[in-house]
Amino acid sequence: MKISNLPRFNLAEFPTPIQYLDVLTKKYNGPAIYMKRDDLTSLGMGGNKTRKLEFLIGEALELGKDTLVTAGGIQSNHCRLTAAAAKKAGLGCHLVLNGTEPKVPNGNLLLDKIFGAKIHFCDRKDRDEMLFQVANELAKTDKNPYVIPVGGSNGIGSVGYVNAMLELSLQLKDMDITPDAIIFATSSGGTQAGLALGAKITGFKGDVLGISIDQNKTGSDPFPPVLTKIANATAERIGSDIRMMESDFNLNCEYLGAGYAMPGDLEFNVIQDLSFHEGILLGPVYTARAMGGLIDLIQKGYFTKDQKVLFWHTGGTPELFAWADQLQKKFR
Ligand SMILES: *Cc1c(COP(=O)(O)O)cnc(C)c1O
Repeated sequence: MKISNLPRFNLAEFPTPIQYLDVLTKKYNGPAIYMKRDDLTSLGMGGNKTRKLEFLIGEALELGKDTLVTAGGIQSNHCRLTAAAAKKAGLGCHLVLNGTEPKVPNGNLLLDKIFGAKIHFCDRKDRDEMLFQVANELAKTDKNPYVIPVGGSNGIGSVGYVNAMLELSLQLKDMDITPDAIIFATSSGGTQAGLALGAKITGFKGDVLGISIDQNKTGSDPFPPVLTKIANATAERIGSDIRMMESDFNLNCEYLGAGYAMPGDLEFNVIQDLSFHEGILLGPVYTARAMGGLIDLIQKGYFTKDQKVLFWHTGGTPELFAWADQLQKKFR
């Protein structure tokens, strides 16, 4: 394996901490709940895209690119971190965001502006085309654009989460604990693809369970083939012979609620649960949905009292400010 030989641009300090959530564990009467704090990666308010961007920007710099171009929703954490990382790497940054520009930007959109990104607003249906259009326009000038797919989820970005699994396995050895399951929010797939591949590489025997934020197992746009494709591109990139199959991915699609970026009771209740009991913030779109799923599974008896689960906090706390209206009703 050759992860250490791959081009990488350092964006944060690792390892991120692992904490035991004592109050939450007692409240739900077991299993023991641990949390891996990737919300605390030390760039631009943190989150899982930092690990992917280290390898994506590593490649961009190696190829002599000077401008990052990527896309996402108006409250995209990936876009905010791309904007921050671009500054640290001395690169330009163009963001294609689907949604209407609000009068007063808040949450991640405000941060995109503070990080000086050039923003292009569009409709959701035009997003993919717009991404390449922006890159093509830049290429016609004196710029050399590097296009990062939505969520940074490809065989390059996902290396960051194989590496994260190697990091975790050293930490677990030190702490002398073996979780029965790792639970996290999954959406564009790079995190899950990397963790599942990393689990095979490190010999992690527990469940690697993605709580889907917006993807389905079946239907017109099934998610498992996406995960397989990213994971196998990642395996090739790191020179591993492992090949993943759809059955290698454990995916729960029971918590899709009203849809992407439409938080409801599940999310708002668990934001309160974690803030009141642990002083930890979750983001309404991803991490609150995934933690809400985990707590629901615990309450349904999916885990036994003597088991250990590790929730991988993938960030997204700046989203909170974009839902101030709904949150103030709950916390007034
Ligand atoms: C992007 C994101 C995820 C999902 O990660 P993917 O690799 O896109 O599946 C989870 N949590 C947060 C906070 C995110 O921003």
